[in-house]
Order: sequence, then C-alpha cells, then structure tokens
Amino acid sequence: CGIVGAVSTRNIVPILVQGLQRLEYRGYDSCGVAIHAQSLPGRSGAGLVRARSTARVAELLAQVAQDDLQGATGIAHTRWATHGAPHMHNAHPHFSHGPGAAPDEATRAGRVALVHNGIIENHESLRRLLESRGYVFSSQTDTEVIAHLVDSLYDGDLFAAVRAATGQLHGAFAIAVIHRDEPHRVVGARAGSPLVLGVGLEGGEHFLASDAMALAGVTDQIVYLEEGDLVDLQLGRYWITTADGQSLDASQRPVRTVA
Ligand code: GLU
Repeated sequence: CGIVGAVSTRNIVPILVQGLQRLEYRGYDSCGVAIHAQSLPGRSGAGLVRARSTARVAELLAQVAQDDLQGATGIAHTRWATHGAPHMHNAHPHFSHGPGAAPDEATRAGRVALVHNGIIENHESLRRLLESRGYVFSSQTDTEVIAHLVDSLYDGDLFAAVRAATGQLHGAFAIAVIHRDEPHRVVGARAGSPLVLGVGLEGGEHFLASDAMALAGVTDQIVYLEEGDLVDLQLGRYWITTADGQSLDASQRPVRTVA
C-alpha cells in the first residue's frame, strides 16, 4: 500500500514513520520499518533490524522509540493485505536470512529487507524454486519470494541483484530493498505501482516513496519514476535505469518541484 525509503547521514527513523503517517489515509492493516543498524556513525549492531505492528503507525512510533531503533538507511511500509492474512508475520518489511537459516524473529537480523506494493502473480512457482534451494519462508505473502530471490541472486551488488530478480517477476510492484552488506544504499523498482524519488536538500540524502506526499516537509524535489524504472540511491548520488540497464539522465527523468 505505502512505501517510504531513505539514504542519509542522520537518523531517518522519524522521517520514515512520519512518511507512513502521511500515507495512513489510504488505509492499511499493518505497518513496519527496517533499518541498517550500522548506517549511523558511532552505532553498531546486527545489520538489518526491524519493527512491525498490526496496530496504528503511532504504535510503531512508540515501538521504535522503545527499541531505540536508529539508522541512516531504511525502508518502511503500510500494508493492505492481498496474499496472507493481516498478521504480524505477514507485515512488511520482509527479510531474507539466506538459505537454511531459521526464520526466527528472536535473531532479528536479516541479510535482505524488502517492502512491496502490489501483487506477484508467479509467487507460487518462485516459492517452490526458492524452497528447493533451501530458503525457509516465514509468511504467507507473495512479497517474501522477492526478498529471497534478491538474496539468491546477490553477488556483492544490490542493484544488480534487484534488476535480475525483477526480471523474473510477473505482476504489479513497487519495491524498496536494502542489504546488510551495503549500509548506504537503497534500491527501488517500479512496474505497475507508483514510486517516486525525492532528492534531499542537504547532506546528500535521497528518498523513495510511493507518493510524493509522504515526503512533504522533507523535500519538494521529486523525480517521478516511470514503468520499468529501477533506481539506485546512495549518499550524494543516484542512478535511474530502464529494466534492460540503459541509464536515464536528467532530461529523461527531470527533477520537479512539488507544491
Ligand atoms: N501483496 C503484498 C501483500 O499482501 C503487498 C500488499 C500491499 O500492496 O500493501 O503483502
């Protein structure tokens, strides 16, 4: 339903959760946020950690404060369930821990974290393929296959893995993905669901959102992604490419000032 993502040098957890609050009017049954715990200078931790809630976004806000969840890189989601009941274990972000690893919330840390709007039509065949490779599923969503697929294709470059993974997906999606081994990177893709890039106003930070409204007060500099676009957000730079890898410049994907 709603997506917000950020790459920054400051703690972006409040921005992510406030972004979700701006999207609340669209309706949702659960919400969550995942951050890279080592993306803030001076912080250490287990890599990717998350908080999820089946209550209001305000509850998520209380939970991230209680857990002292802080990070400069992260993704967040409000879910409107299509596959799998509205339940904590189906709430996004979904994690991949790699093949064989127990999907134990107690361990908390993930290798890939992903949020998704839309529907993956070939999720059953992908699930069987990934299970045959040893991946253990912890939800009933169509979304979780994408997290494991990205993990299975990862070879040190999250953008390449997401591009290869989206090439295998049928259906409608907007996604945002982070990886344990790349603390200052968010990769997004759009096919059938809206996604925008927000160019940060300071410190080289960049944002992703399913609706520019989620970024109100953070940036008014928006690039509207088009069907099939992939976007690679890093500190101080971003790239937008087509699904076949052709890079798009500012004349093709202009930055617009939104009211
Ligand atoms: N199909 C996904 C799910 O059920 C995403 C739903 C959404 O767009 O929020 O988890």
